[in-house]
Amino acid sequence: MGNLTRFGRGIKPWAIARDVAPAYICAMPKPDFTHIRTWVFDLDNTLYPPSARLFDQIEARMTRFVMDTLRVTHAEADRLRHHYWREHGNTLAGLMRVHDLDPGPYLAAVHDISLDQLEPDAALNTVIRALPGRKIVYTNGSAPYAERVIAARGLAGAFDAVYGVEHAGYRPKPEPEAFQAILTQDQSAPATAAMFEDEPRNLAAPHAMGMRTVHVAPERVEADHIHHHTNDLGGFLARLV
Ligand SMILES: [Mg+2]
Repeated sequence: MGNLTRFGRGIKPWAIARDVAPAYICAMPKPDFTHIRTWVFDLDNTLYPPSARLFDQIEARMTRFVMDTLRVTHAEADRLRHHYWREHGNTLAGLMRVHDLDPGPYLAAVHDISLDQLEPDAALNTVIRALPGRKIVYTNGSAPYAERVIAARGLAGAFDAVYGVEHAGYRPKPEPEAFQAILTQDQSAPATAAMFEDEPRNLAAPHAMGMRTVHVAPERVEADHIHHHTNDLGGFLARLV
């Protein structure tokens, strides 16, 4: 039964509005973004679909690096990675804080992966370039890796700046200080910035700072710190320009 039919049968407008609110918000996000001057995009699983499964390659290299560096078994390396991810934000932060690791060799090793699964996305390139204001990438990976991924997606030149974990003093998302460091370097104000990200916990600090938050993922997650969800970044952005 369509909404017009229900309206015609005398159901109160507020009831209809509540019924259709999620679809309405989803269909017309633009008013929520008219104040945005800086568009911040996560990289992995945000600027390319999770179906590319790049993280499978990265995770295998993280585990191998932990095994070789700490001389532990595969199972212990996996356990430590998950523990550091939970307690320190990512594996690198745990390795640096607990084991005083040099981040350079680690970042080079874990990002030495094949990008064959990535395809250029001309529509995404067009719509990112059409956004008003600054467009930046901010990843917990390294900036050189981000540049490779951006090129493989056909997005070279679409961004004004690319920030990696090294630009936040190796502090990872989700730490608020990491986001603050990046926005300060970029001379961007949180109140006029939007964050696009596949990891829900990485949207908590941006929300607290006053940023607009967009969860980019196949599955919607309900949380107070998530303003919008989309499973199609290019399609979502096309409704904002
Ligand atoms: Mg990501």
